[in-house]
Amino acid sequence: MIIAIDGPAASGKSTTAKLVAKKLNITNLDTGAMYRAVTLQLLRSNTDFDNIDKVSTILGNLNIDMYDYKGRNIIKLNNEDVTEEIRSSNVTKYVSEVSALLTVRETMVIKQREIGFKTDCVIEGRDIGTKVFPNADYKFYMIADIKMRANRRLKEMNQLGRIKSFDDVVSDLEIRDYKDSNRENSPLRKAVDAVEIDTSNLSIDEQVNKIINHIKINK
Ligand code: C5P
Repeated sequence: MIIAIDGPAASGKSTTAKLVAKKLNITNLDTGAMYRAVTLQLLRSNTDFDNIDKVSTILGNLNIDMYDYKGRNIIKLNNEDVTEEIRSSNVTKYVSEVSALLTVRETMVIKQREIGFKTDCVIEGRDIGTKVFPNADYKFYMIADIKMRANRRLKEMNQLGRIKSFDDVVSDLEIRDYKDSNRENSPLRKAVDAVEIDTSNLSIDEQVNKIINHIKINK
């Protein structure tokens, strides 16, 4: 069973996907973390994103491992734990540019399908319902008011000791959504058959229950 959850940045996908997967006792795959890991590796190796040969070589030598440890999604890049580093502002700044590259998307989609075809999972991202798993059993598209999204992101950043102004967070989210929605390859879109959930005024429990109830009713 594949449950696809797409939507713009900070719309509540990650937290919801993790909890839905836990309730159903199935795997949770955060595909944004995969694009972030690639971005980190390209930044570390000072790779010019236009240098497709070098980008392809790096992709070929990249080993991304993801697993749950005590309720936390751990991500390892060539055996190094990069769970926190992939959330740095530098990675966040460049991830949309990297994820727009066709070679990067093709490589990630192969990995995502490998995981999805062998195990039941909740997969969240931008193109899961439209491109990666167009035949997913259930598709959801989460949206939320930009101010709500910025407040949530600001809270997460404060918890990590990262200081940014509200206006800067709004502008970062808007820029990333614009780039993700306007790229040529697999832009962020609601699949025609996805159920839209506006999380602006929903608690996390309510978001999770909406998805679980929809699945129960449409079994
Ligand atoms: O979900 P998160 O905000 O961590 O995703 C980081 C970035 O990865 C997105 O802004 C987008 O550029 C890219 N992404 C993507 N396709 C996905 C998931 C994420 O292009 N399926």
